[in-house]
Amino acid sequence: MDLDSFDKLLVDELDIKPVKFPHTSGYCSSCKKAKHPQLEAAGSGHESCLHYSLQTEGLVSKDSFGATALHIAARKGMTQSLQCIVDVCSPVEAFRAHNKASPAHDAAGTGNLESLIFLIENTACTAHDRDKNQATPLHWAAQLGHTEVVDWLISDAGAQPDVKNTAGLTPIHLAASKNKLDTLKWLSNHLKNHYVNSQTYIDARALNGETPLYFAAQEGHLQIVTWLVEKVCPVIDV
Ligand SMILES: [Zn+2]
Repeated sequence: MDLDSFDKLLVDELDIKPVKFPHTSGYCSSCKKAKHPQLEAAGSGHESCLHYSLQTEGLVSKDSFGATALHIAARKGMTQSLQCIVDVCSPVEAFRAHNKASPAHDAAGTGNLESLIFLIENTACTAHDRDKNQATPLHWAAQLGHTEVVDWLISDAGAQPDVKNTAGLTPIHLAASKNKLDTLKWLSNHLKNHYVNSQTYIDARALNGETPLYFAAQEGHLQIVTWLVEKVCPVIDV
């Protein structure tokens, strides 16, 4: 009996399935020379490098902000990288960066809806994750004007449009203060269609008493101010 046959016999006797380790040859030259090869692989969609890294080290790398490969893949919309991480490391917790942001915050803040949906369906990330300021992925999406993400978070993932951060700011405050008119209009229409007292949400006051209109005026966003005054807040309450 040659050695190969003997090995096969042992495997058969012990009922051990040969383990497949695809793509375990190592990093490519560009990932290898990066400061954090695992993060580089996740962000650049180098699936074989990422696979190698996860199998040899686990999900361990973090950058100086505490972002993991999940955060990096999420913010770059690399859903294939997220899939690779889940395949190798499942179950995957909602890792937090130094600012307590989960990968869901990164996906929402960069408008990568496909990655956000994947994270919420396949990892411990949720639409209710809170960063160090108690902001949710919805706050991040509204502030950066990613209306499609705002729509999905509220319509499909159970996010509440009136959720407040530690300063008492809602996604409506943030959309108004950051000049995101389309997002503000979507939020306003949603509130009108689903809440009897929608006006109270549009006029919500933050911890220091500021309304969305106040922030828009303070920042000099004329379009937002005009729209709020004409369409939503016919009576200015100062
Ligand atoms: Zn690579």
